[in-house]
Amino acid sequence: FGVTALRWWCSVQLLWTCYFKAPGIAISQFHTSSPASAKQHYKMLVLGGGTGGIAMSSRMKRLVGAENVALVEPSEIHYYQPIWTLVGAGAKTVASSSRPTASLMPSGVKWVKSKVQEINPETNTVRTADGTEISYEYLIVALGLELHYEKIKGLPEGFEHPKIGSNYSVQTVEKTWKALQDFKEGNAVFTFPNTPVKCAGAPQKIMYLSDAYLRKTGKRAKANVIYNTSLPVIFGVKKYADSLWEIVKKRDLQINLRHNLIEVRADKQEAVFENLDKPGETKVIEYEMLHVTPPMGPSSVIKGSPLADEIGWLDLNKETLQHTKYPNVFGIGDCTNLPTSKTGAAVAAQSAVLSRTISKILKKEKPDKKYDGYTSCPLVTSYNTVILAEFDYNGQPLETFPFNQAKERRLMYHMKTDVMPHLYWHGLLRGLWGGPGPYRKIMHLGMK
Ligand SMILES: Cc1cc2nc3c(=O)[nH]c(=O)nc-3n(C[C@H](O)[C@H](O)[C@H](O)COP(=O)(O)OP(=O)(O)OC[C@H]3O[C@@H](n4cnc5c(N)ncnc54)[C@H](O)[C@@H]3O)c2cc1C
Repeated sequence: FGVTALRWWCSVQLLWTCYFKAPGIAISQFHTSSPASAKQHYKMLVLGGGTGGIAMSSRMKRLVGAENVALVEPSEIHYYQPIWTLVGAGAKTVASSSRPTASLMPSGVKWVKSKVQEINPETNTVRTADGTEISYEYLIVALGLELHYEKIKGLPEGFEHPKIGSNYSVQTVEKTWKALQDFKEGNAVFTFPNTPVKCAGAPQKIMYLSDAYLRKTGKRAKANVIYNTSLPVIFGVKKYADSLWEIVKKRDLQINLRHNLIEVRADKQEAVFENLDKPGETKVIEYEMLHVTPPMGPSSVIKGSPLADEIGWLDLNKETLQHTKYPNVFGIGDCTNLPTSKTGAAVAAQSAVLSRTISKILKKEKPDKKYDGYTSCPLVTSYNTVILAEFDYNGQPLETFPFNQAKERRLMYHMKTDVMPHLYWHGLLRGLWGGPGPYRKIMHLGMK
């Protein structure tokens, strides 16, 4: 039944892509790219060419024409970050997560290969690192978030030592796999910081995979697997948290809530945690393997601009994704203050709503489609099982499939490892896939 459901789901995706959305869209190397130089003006300016930025450039090309769209992104390589969970556990290569940015840019869209340094919404201008000023009619901000390893004493220099890794950066993800392979006996420690993070499930997915690897290699009896999280819960949505608690009990994984990593003494293989419920109390844990999820925060460019909320996130209307003060400014993804879990799946759902919002505003009409906070986290619980968490702004499950997704399933593992990368590269980034919302409805109707 599960396989039939997956096949059906894929056919719906394919049909949607081939017959309803594809005409007129071609992704190729023939975009125009240059370092920013003289003053430039664009009807639609997109900042950041990660998941949200490329997806929105593709959609905006369709809406206003390629010659009217520019995207500012400094990186030559684009990464599909969700695969890093599997890279850290040796199940995929880091090369499989990357593609040249040039191959993903929608053809005809201007690629400004530079960093945004300043955004001035009062004058509708942006300044890049090489001093170029770009003016815009409409601005889409997709700058992602910033990782702050340096906020943990002893990092990032501690990564030069063995036994420590982090799936959150392309520089350190392979160190996780090395530390796991080199594990002999002792504590395998996994952390979750005291800040918002992208993919809140990823810090614990690598724990389940490491546990499975240690079992497979006969080392589990000599290991204590420990998850120290700053959060007061194992996962924010009760339905999935209940299943995860069952798994950690069954597999003898030790969970310490409200424990925040503040220092790594990599030369001694020691990690120092503060107890967030007892200020001033710290605990030192000796580790044989340490996986660090770094503190994260808003883009410094947004933080230093009038577009930021009091913390520094892009201040948006949570339903329309339009800026709260500047009506010609919009945002998507990890850089925003949308009160949902920051994931690529959320970006997919947001891209469909934002596209609709902008098309309405261009016609001087009111936005009519509302983002419900849809987000998804495939909680990898072993080398062949996943719990597929999907939920909205209120933490209410919004599941795609007509079976209990809180249960570990092999089918969902294939979805994560085989189907999702395909949907990412060929659907989401081409502006052809807006999350499983519509399919969710189709699936449920069809299965009744
Ligand atoms: C280990 C890991 C596991 C994950 N697992 C999942 C998962 O299973 N499912 C899921 O849905 N999501 C997952 N995610 C999260 C997902 O990858 C992100 O939520 C998603 O990529 C966010 O898209 P974005 O466009 O907001 O930011 P990003 O994709 O990070 O893009 C931001 C872009 O902005 C650019 N930029 C930054 N500053 C500037 C500047 N000053 N000027 C110009 N450009 C700039 C960057 O170079 C980057 O290209 C995971 C992430 C990680 C790290």
